[in-house]
Amino acid sequence: MSRALPEVVFVLGAPGSGKGTQCARAVKHLGFEHLSAGDLLREERQRPGSQYAAMIEQKIRDGQIVPVEVTCALIVAAMRRATGTRFLVDGFPRNADNLTGWYTACSETTRLLFVLFFECSKEECSRRCLARGAAGSGRSDDNEESLLKRFDTYVKDTLPVVNHYDELGLVRRINADHDPDSVFEKVKAVFADAGIFSTP
Ligand code: UDP
Ligand code: MG
Repeated sequence: MSRALPEVVFVLGAPGSGKGTQCARAVKHLGFEHLSAGDLLREERQRPGSQYAAMIEQKIRDGQIVPVEVTCALIVAAMRRATGTRFLVDGFPRNADNLTGWYTACSETTRLLFVLFFECSKEECSRRCLARGAAGSGRSDDNEESLLKRFDTYVKDTLPVVNHYDELGLVRRINADHDPDSVFEKVKAVFADAGIFSTP
């Protein structure tokens, strides 16, 4: 008997646009599992004996993107460990290298439903990240210097990925410049359009 392919939604948007916050709500109400590429990389960085730890830390601090072989392997391993079959892949693919790596590793073994794309002003995004840093996020990149680099990478490398999926008609844009509850109403509407309904 053939098994249905795991279904994937990519979640993209500037740093601080609310990807993680909204994914947490989607896990609770929409039955998806949340795979944050950034969190998986931070876990790998902490893993004793990881040969990638120093490289990952340097890339994160500099707002640069880790080679896809590392990131994609972590995502694939997390999908294999998971019990569910629907995944929010958050903060990936972030550049052309990520995109190629994903096509090679996963395009035939997963089904991409759509790309959830959070649009939020740079001012609001910076405000959120700096507030998160000040509140003790412990992230080595929630500071002004790293943030500038992260935004730069986002505009230069990630927006072209969004444009690529836009040309395929797969991007669902959400204005994320609002409070989390009202943004989540819009998220639910996008999933409902795809036939996926929320539970209370
Ligand atoms: N990162 C990466 N590849 C990815 C996802 C993240 O190299 O696929 C690195 C990159 O340096 C990025 C950092 O991890 O700036 C933080 O990513 P995260 O998604 O946690 O940040 P967010 O955009 O959610 O604020
Ligand atoms: Mg995040």
